[in-house]
Order: sequence, then structure tokens, then C-alpha cells
Amino acid sequence: MKARRSGAPGPGSASPSAKLRKAVLFTGYSCNNRCGFCVDYEKRHIPDKTTATLIREMARAKAWGADYLELIGGEASLRADFLKLVRSAKKIGFRDIATATNGRLFAYPDFARAALRAGLTSIIFSVHGHTAALHDRLTAAAGSFAQLCDGVRSLRALGFKRLHANATVVRQNYRFLPRLGELFLRLGFCGVELIFVDPTYGGAHRSFSKFVPRISLAAPWMRRCLDIGRAAGTRSWFVRYVPLCHFQGYEDQVSETMERRTFAATLHWAPDFKNEDVAGSRAAVARAKPGSCGGCRLSGECEGIWREYLRVYGAAELRPVL
Ligand code: SF4
Repeated sequence: MKARRSGAPGPGSASPSAKLRKAVLFTGYSCNNRCGFCVDYEKRHIPDKTTATLIREMARAKAWGADYLELIGGEASLRADFLKLVRSAKKIGFRDIATATNGRLFAYPDFARAALRAGLTSIIFSVHGHTAALHDRLTAAAGSFAQLCDGVRSLRALGFKRLHANATVVRQNYRFLPRLGELFLRLGFCGVELIFVDPTYGGAHRSFSKFVPRISLAAPWMRRCLDIGRAAGTRSWFVRYVPLCHFQGYEDQVSETMERRTFAATLHWAPDFKNEDVAGSRAAVARAKPGSCGGCRLSGECEGIWREYLRVYGAAELRPVL
């Protein structure tokens, strides 16, 4: 599962006058992993988009003003036309062409080389465990961790530097996030994002108690992971979908805050929906701040927590900052 809501750290902060527009094109939901918490878990039967549709969408996204293009799935790299899509994106003129991936195809050096030649400028690996045992258990794909690590090494051997990582934070891995942070450093990722699992749809909705941790339990481990990045000299490690009261002192490392400063707008075009106001619809549909947030001085910046989380666990862990 890729972090399909946003993927990963963007290209960095920018002044308001230089804000970018970001287009995320979902190529389809086919994937060779089977992450049980995947937000698209129940969408695998939906047909992937055709090559012609995707090239047409790229042209429209460019006309809309997108500078930053992200191709995601499912697993976009599995497509027979993946290199053609990247070449088309380059020809259309996107400044950044990123893909979020489970990383397995990049283990093949010829594929990694071809993808860079085609024009990929940034690659975001989804790494859900610090060991093969944990990652492969979460992806339900034996050997997926070894292939991902080989993929990172292939790209580094080619001199490619814009390697990012994301991890979905679930009950099974939150205690190991500092260990995961150490792995991120060893693999040489320049940016990292820890994504609090989304139970609005898909696998984590269906199996909430299996996958969704209490934020009060997960947040300290997420902060410790950010501290590992800080100790190594980087603040380009982020957390996503978290209430700010659990991340005081880390406000500059919250993805949504960074994105508001970096991107003027983000669109998502998937096989089964189109969303041209991703942040607005997330606030309207998926996340909420309960009445107990009243008076919190962080409320303006904070998106609260998942509505589904509040429905199941309640709001007692959210503590207004006065
Ligand atoms: S109390 Fe509510 S508004 Fe304040 S930081 Fe926590 S979730 Fe956000």
C-alpha cells in the first residue's frame, strides 16, 4: 500500500508567492502487495485506467497548473506502460514527476535505470516495518522487504538521491518506529513521512481494532522517530493525519501544515472518483475536531483526527492546548 492521500514529503517549503499545484493520478488499484490496512483494500476489482486516459489526464492536470505530478496505485510501477507514462509526463513538462511505490520492481537494476532515464525525479517507498518479518507480515507478501531494500540500493547505485519513505502507522508497528527511523537513515532516505492509518475506508475500516492504535500510545513513538531524524540533522521527516496536541514542538513537521505552505492546491484523480479540493474534502468528510477542542489555540492549524476514530475510541485523548 502506498500513501495515496499525498504520498510523501513534498518538494519543501515555499513562499506563498511560489506555491505549487500538485496532481496525484491514481493509475489503478492493481498491486502485488496485500496490505491488510490498505485504504483501497476493497477496490482491487476496479479496472485500471488505460494509457490514453492517463496521458489525457496528465495534459489536463498540466493545463490546470500542476507543476508536481505523482503517479500512484495500487502499484503504478507494475503497469506495462509505466515507463511510457513517465516519458509522457516529462514531455508534457511537469517540474517534478514522482511515484509512490512498494519498491519491489526497482530491485531489478534495468528497471530502475529505465525509470530514471524516462524522467522520474522523486521516488517514495512505502516501508511498514524495520525487519523483513514485520514488513512482509503487514504487506502479506513474502520477500517484499528484501526487494524494497534492493530497490533502494539499485537507485542509490545509480546516483539517484531523491528517495523518500513513508510508513503507515498501525498497531503492529508503532512500537518499532524508532527502529524504523534507524533503517531510514541506513537506507539513505532524504525525506520521511509517518502516516497515521486511515480508517475511513478499506482494510482499516473493516478491521479497525486489528490495525488502528490509540493516538496517545502511537504518538510518543512517532515523536521518537522524528527525534532520530533530528539527531541526524534533518527536519524533513513528517507526520500525517495526527492531532497537533500530541505533537507540540513538532508543528513544523506536520505534513498538512507543510503542504498548506507549499501547495496552492492538490487534486486526486482516481479510477472511481475525482477530488480537486483534497484538503477541504478531508476536513469536511473524514476528519473532525470534537466539541472538547473548543478554545484550543492550535485549532486553526489542526485538522483533528479521523471521524471514524472518534466514533470508535471517542475524544478523551485530545487535550486542548490553552
Ligand atoms: S485539542 Fe483538538 S484542536 Fe487542539 S490540537 Fe488537539 S485535536 Fe487539535
